Amino acid sequence: MNLRAVRTAIWPAALSVFVGAHVLALGSGSGDVRVLGVLAGVTLGILIALEHWLPHRPDWSARGDPQLRNDIAHTLLGGAIGNVSIDVALIVATAALLPRDTRGVWPRAWPLPAQVVLFLFAADGLYYWKHRLLHHVGWLWRIHALHHSAERLHTLKATRSHFLEAILRAFLIVAPLAALGAPPEVVVWYSASIVIIVPISHANIAMPVPAWLHRWVQTPDWHRLHHSTDPALTDCNFASLFPFWDLVFGTYRDPERETLDSVGNNAGPSPPSRLLAQLWYPFTTRRG
Ligand SMILES: [Zn+2]
Ligand SMILES: [Zn+2]
Repeated sequence: MNLRAVRTAIWPAALSVFVGAHVLALGSGSGDVRVLGVLAGVTLGILIALEHWLPHRPDWSARGDPQLRNDIAHTLLGGAIGNVSIDVALIVATAALLPRDTRGVWPRAWPLPAQVVLFLFAADGLYYWKHRLLHHVGWLWRIHALHHSAERLHTLKATRSHFLEAILRAFLIVAPLAALGAPPEVVVWYSASIVIIVPISHANIAMPVPAWLHRWVQTPDWHRLHHSTDPALTDCNFASLFPFWDLVFGTYRDPERETLDSVGNNAGPSPPSRLLAQLWYPFTTRRG
């Protein structure tokens, strides 16, 4: 097998292995947050190992990245707060339903895989609009700017996000769908899908995919355009799972037709470089 064939096999192989591991873990009835945490750690570890073996761009290496410690801190903080937030959002959404003694309109009679697909699709539609708002409302940009301030893309940039984003995700995306009656065993797949697809899309691995795939699911080249230093490209490709939403709302840009020179933030003010200042940044009113 030549190197080109290996590169082409990485994306589908990584996706299959990570999805398969989650099917085994969740299918055995384990929605235990510790099991999911271990799976997330293994997922990141495999991608980081592949980055060293087959880098997409050597200048995007995690080695020598002055922000690496902060990336790790944001990963741990966002993961922990994200899990707690989703649990709280589920409790709040379920409590809101109790007085009406109803399970809502969610099709609980459907097979679990069909419910999961429906949930992921609807959740990504909500995510799309949340993400557009983060770009276009000034004080919300101060939360999201941290993710765009990355000047190189590698696995740990996937989780370089302010912890407020995890809280927003729980209450603007998970809670409304849970309030419609989506059960926890379906919701857990939304967390799993983020752990699987988002790190792959940020990984600095040379893993070409067929051109048609960019329209069906978030691919690395498709999401890298969203991190472009060209503001016209930053305001595109907002979905985190299904580019369908960008196609529908007119923000789809195709990596086969665009050139990505560099990544970073030219779209608005940027957060400071120190960790505590980055965490405090959304709560300040200082410009820049
Ligand atoms: Zn963005
Ligand atoms: Zn990103």
